[in-house]
Amino acid sequence: MAVAYRAARVFDGTSEGVIEDGAVVVEDGRIASVGPARGLPPNTVDLGDATLMPGLVDAHVHLVWDASAEPHEVVERESHALTVLRCAKNAALHLRAGVTTVRDVGSADGLAVEIGRAVELGILSGPRVVAAGRAIAMTGGHGWFLGREADGPDAVRRAAREEIKAGASCIKLMASGGVYGHAEEPGSPQLTVEEMRPAVEEAHKAGRKAAAHAYSVEAINNALEAGVDSVEHGSFLDRETVGRMREQGTYLVPTMSVYAAMAEKGPGLGSPEYITRKTAEVLEAGGEAFRLALEAGVPVAAGTDCGAPGHPHGTLPEELRLMVEAGATPQQALRFGTSAAAELLGLGDEVGALEPGKRADLLAVAGDPTLDIRALREVRLVLRDGVDL
Ligand SMILES: [Zn+2]
Repeated sequence: MAVAYRAARVFDGTSEGVIEDGAVVVEDGRIASVGPARGLPPNTVDLGDATLMPGLVDAHVHLVWDASAEPHEVVERESHALTVLRCAKNAALHLRAGVTTVRDVGSADGLAVEIGRAVELGILSGPRVVAAGRAIAMTGGHGWFLGREADGPDAVRRAAREEIKAGASCIKLMASGGVYGHAEEPGSPQLTVEEMRPAVEEAHKAGRKAAAHAYSVEAINNALEAGVDSVEHGSFLDRETVGRMREQGTYLVPTMSVYAAMAEKGPGLGSPEYITRKTAEVLEAGGEAFRLALEAGVPVAAGTDCGAPGHPHGTLPEELRLMVEAGATPQQALRFGTSAAAELLGLGDEVGALEPGKRADLLAVAGDPTLDIRALREVRLVLRDGVDL
């Protein structure tokens, strides 16, 4: 049976403007129509002075992490069962914030793949999960505790194949050091071009995307040479590399909110000194990298890296606010957090925009986020596949 949702404004996730006094009709979990509120069925839900838009898409999360000072150590200490329950809680936090799809780019033992299955089976109320399973790092490389270690082209190829076999719907590669490890710097290159290329090949052969964690120009260029679909973080991007990303159509997922959160809350949480120092380094550079990418017209998808210290799940609205603060228009930021992110996840035909035939992932917020992005904080309604979970 068709149900109509009427609101003062409808933002479809791709356009510049909004439809004033609009409605979205939902039937069998999909969108039947989008347009002005005319000739609506009797069972219309009137949302009043709200904006109806596509559910948000967070392209970079870690469901196993709890946003504590050293989340990877919590996972190491606690039982598997407890970690699984924590993932379920984190998934629910996303949904409550209007995030109806997440991409998990690294989980201990590939747990996020199972969380995605649980959501699909209706066992768990959460966002749809595109999961990388275990991230692939060189021995001792960044975030090995969120994944697996592999060295040499053959081993990295095999690792990618094994993750796909285990149910991964994307592949995550660690192209540089990062903020969390004791004995690494964000800029130091890790997996080589020769190692990443076969993993990217395997991902593409299986119709999946490959994402690379990379901070420095050297590491980003290695990842671009290997053919990845997105650069995660990319904080030290320069003009030349930005040009190359635009040419190749490679997405940037800037994750600015994680550094802002860690800088603000890390020391109070008791994060170790090495995390505080490295956070300060990438925080400033990251804003500049985002501006360069924006100017050059590099495709951008919004992702939070939530679960990291001081950065709880369901914080995509904060990432979008920071994008606006750094120079994006609210409409751009909203696209980065809906249609553009869906495109990067390979779900552009299914979610991220309000169009007939797409899945009915709807978010209604009070006020008008195309004028003031902070309106995203006041959630009125969230539907995934047409269901109020
Ligand atoms: Zn991450």
